Amino acid sequence: MTTRFDILTLFPDPLEEYLKSSLLGKAVENKLVDFQVHQLRDWALDKHRMADDQVYGGGDGMVLKVEPAVKAIEQVSASYHKGRVIYMSPQGRPLTQQIVEELSEYEEILLLCGRYEGVDERVLEGWVDEEISLGDFVLCGGELPALALVEAITRLIPGVVGKASSLQDETFSRGLVEYPHYTRPREFRGHKVPEVLLNGNHGEIEKWRRHESIKRTLKKRPDLLDDLQLDSETKEILRKLRDPQ
Ligand code: SAM
Repeated sequence: MTTRFDILTLFPDPLEEYLKSSLLGKAVENKLVDFQVHQLRDWALDKHRMADDQVYGGGDGMVLKVEPAVKAIEQVSASYHKGRVIYMSPQGRPLTQQIVEELSEYEEILLLCGRYEGVDERVLEGWVDEEISLGDFVLCGGELPALALVEAITRLIPGVVGKASSLQDETFSRGLVEYPHYTRPREFRGHKVPEVLLNGNHGEIEKWRRHESIKRTLKKRPDLLDDLQLDSETKEILRKLRDPQ
C-alpha cells in the first residue's frame, strides 16, 4: 500500500525540493509513499488568485480565505478511503512520537499549512479533523511543521528505514532515549570507545546498551520515566543510578 500525503500551501517549491531528497525521495521511488504538494491559489478563482485577505474586525493581519481552502480540501480528499485532514497550528496538539504512530495508521493525510494570522476559522469548524503543533513556539508558516510530520510518519512505514530493529531501539519508541553510538577510530584525543563495544560479546553489549539508555534518560529526560511501566530490572538499575552506594 502507498501512503499518500497531500500538502496545501502558498509556497510549494521548497517543499517539493525537500520531499525529493534522501530517504523521502527513495520512499517515493519505491512507491511506499506519494507526496502531492498543491498550490492553494489554484483554488482561488478571482482574477488576482487571492487565497488570503484582510481580517474582519480591524488590524493589519491577513488570513487564508475560507473558499479556496475548503474547495482545495474537498477536491484533494474526495478519493480518500481512510484519510485525515490536519491543520498545522501552534494551537494544536504538540507533536509527539505517539501521535506520529497514531497517524501512521491512516492511508491518506492532508496537511493544510497556514500563513500570516492563520486560516479563516470556518475551515477548522467544518473541514479539519485536528490541529497539530510542532511545539510551543510560533513560526511564519505551517510548511516546516508539515515537513516534520510527513518525515516522522514516513520513517515508520515498513521498508522506508533499512532495518525495522533500528526503529525499535530509537528514542521514545520504548519510552526511553537511545543509547550512545560510536564509530572508528577507537580513540580520539583521549576519548575512547567503551571497551564493551569492541569485544563482540552481544549479550554484554545488549546489557550495556540497556543500562546506558536508562542512564541517559535519567540524565536528559527524567520526565519520560514518570509515565513508564518499569520492569524489575529497570527499577533496580534506576535505584543504583540514583543512589550509587
Ligand atoms: N496567529 C496565529 C496564532 O497566534 O496562533 C499564528 C499564526 S503563524 C504566524 C502562521 C501559521 O504558521 C499558522 O497558521 C500555522 O499554520 C503555522 N505555524 C506557526 N507556528 C506553528 C507551530 N508551532 N506548529 C505548527 N504550525 C505552526
